Amino acid sequence: MIKNAEIHFNHLGTPIADNFNDVYFSNDDGQAESDYVFYQQNNMPHRLQNHDRPHFVIGETGFGTGLNFLNTWLQFKNYLTSRQHHNLEVHNSVQQNVQRLHFISFEKYPIKADDLKKALQVWPTLALQSKQLLAKYPINLAGCHRLEFENGQVVLDLYFGDVLNSLAGISYPQTGIIDAWYLDGFAPSKNPEMWQPALFNAMADISRTNATLATFTVAGVVRRGLSDAGFSVQKAKGHGSKNEMLIGHLPHANKAHSAPAYFTHQQSSLKNVAVIGGGIASSAVLYSLAKRGCNSQLFCQDPQLAMGASHNVQGAIYPHLQAKNSPHSELFAHSFLYAKRLYQQLIDNGFNYDHQWCGVLQHAIKQPLAERHQNIENKQLWPNELMHSVTPAQGDEIAGVSTGYSGVYFELGGWVNPPQLVNALYQQAHALTPIQSHFNCDIDKLEKTPQGWLLQSQGQQFGPFSDVIICAGEHSDRFEQTKSLPIVGVRGQVSHVQASAASTKLKTVLCHKGYFTPAYLDHHCMGATFEKNTKSRAVTEQDNITNREQLLNFYGQTEFASSLGAITAAKAAVRCSFIDHLPMAGEWAQQSDYIHAFANLRSGKRYQYQPLQKPLQGLHILTGFGARGLCSAPLCAEQLVAVLNDEPHPLSERVSQAIHPARFIVRDLIRNKI
Ligand code: SAM
Repeated sequence: MIKNAEIHFNHLGTPIADNFNDVYFSNDDGQAESDYVFYQQNNMPHRLQNHDRPHFVIGETGFGTGLNFLNTWLQFKNYLTSRQHHNLEVHNSVQQNVQRLHFISFEKYPIKADDLKKALQVWPTLALQSKQLLAKYPINLAGCHRLEFENGQVVLDLYFGDVLNSLAGISYPQTGIIDAWYLDGFAPSKNPEMWQPALFNAMADISRTNATLATFTVAGVVRRGLSDAGFSVQKAKGHGSKNEMLIGHLPHANKAHSAPAYFTHQQSSLKNVAVIGGGIASSAVLYSLAKRGCNSQLFCQDPQLAMGASHNVQGAIYPHLQAKNSPHSELFAHSFLYAKRLYQQLIDNGFNYDHQWCGVLQHAIKQPLAERHQNIENKQLWPNELMHSVTPAQGDEIAGVSTGYSGVYFELGGWVNPPQLVNALYQQAHALTPIQSHFNCDIDKLEKTPQGWLLQSQGQQFGPFSDVIICAGEHSDRFEQTKSLPIVGVRGQVSHVQASAASTKLKTVLCHKGYFTPAYLDHHCMGATFEKNTKSRAVTEQDNITNREQLLNFYGQTEFASSLGAITAAKAAVRCSFIDHLPMAGEWAQQSDYIHAFANLRSGKRYQYQPLQKPLQGLHILTGFGARGLCSAPLCAEQLVAVLNDEPHPLSERVSQAIHPARFIVRDLIRNKI
């Protein structure tokens, strides 16, 4: 569990950490010192104009009040503005201007939001940025919170947890990810646990060649530690009256990487991308591409967006958490928070959709569930805001109707109108980088040619494309190349039932075996059924009966359920999932290629392999969200695009492996089944 910082403010208004007895920033114009020590001494003004790729990545130990981040953001904005004024051209093919700032910061003891607000009040020039940071400041959940500002031009990956733990779980390629380090984190004498060789070594592991560093301290332990890890360091003039500080760089990236060869990711050019689908996964990936200025085209078999599994009138959103800190829980917890920030951003930007952040109450309808809820509560795995248990009385108070069940409450959850949301997200993406869309266009064939990927629909040809991303849900296995995709299709029908005077009192989404939403347009959504091995979208009367029976089964004693009116409409769809209930995001993994490269996995030799040949390079898959796409699709889409664009990954290594397209092939090789 993440603990907040205990702080107080001195007579100058500077925040001081009680447990470290040290200041967060200098008493003597902290912003100027932050700018000098970290921004200037990493040579940022020059490097933003002369970089080898369009994004620049800064790593920081100790987010604290976020002063360093906010100042860097401000400077980056100034640089973008001045670049616009001077209309600077790209210098040559290798060196170019930076267009996106990526700031990764590690924080063990996050400052409470109220304290943060107070601490940042002293910087009027940062007021605009501070307000936006405060609006998105995360809850106390360990792991990576990806916060996006300036329509994604400024990205903050805020890792909550000890920096050493976070670095141990981070996902990174052999070439490294960090271009510059801000080594902050209280004086080494006051925080010796952080300034360790393990930190310096981990920094070197994830640094790119020629990554720089700057820090206020010149302590011997820091100088020696950095040198031993491979950095070349030297003293520089300190800020103001301070004599010294330390700067350095890493002459050569080392060969460390986080994933075994069979789970590494390949980057791609993303020159022009074809997206096949039309639901939440497609919109989410189009948005992630558009933020980066990537050109894309959408191919949708239906006449409009969201006619498949994203077509319900009200879809519940909440994280699916297990009673353990598993990759599954980590994925859903962070996906949920990311999706919520994104959906709020849409509203802030004027892209509207009907929704209610009214919370989601999961009832313990059977004794084992009550025990499971209690177990989760006892373990204190999740921050209260994410999920907490409630007694029957508390639950009824939240719900506004009386049920008599205990349960767990997801207070940040709620419902959205999925087709409107999918459209809003699509419109937002289109506003950032125009998207060419083809509706009623049923792609039936994919072909890789030396020029790129060609798509065919009833004889009509599109392309070539550098990349194809298949987000076609249950249809994702229809192509010759992807026919081995082990999709599990589950048909679900949701019924729309007329509200009654008693049922309109319901204030939150109820989850039992299925779900029941608060009234919207005089109706509730009630469902869903689960039926495997069918691809029919046809609505059946029997499923409407089943949905009502299921509701009455658990709530028959309550007035709200027994007074409901007629079922006036229903929607059915097939949700696509995988046997491990996790989605899939990444480059397509061809079984024959993996068998050839990693045959030795069959005999337990994990490090002896042939190079992985990828004749289908450029083909990617993003699907398997089951009934949880509203929650998990945006972050998985972001992960897919970040990986392909060789940017920092928002998901940890273990989660990235858990949703890797090769996971079933690797599992079967290890078990000697293929
Ligand atoms: N960069 C910050 C700013 O701009 O406000 C100031 C950083 S403050 C001097 C040091 C920060 O390092 C504190 O917020 C502290 O909680 C954090 N910290 C200390 N030890 C840490 C560790 N082992 N892992 C992660 N963060 C740590």
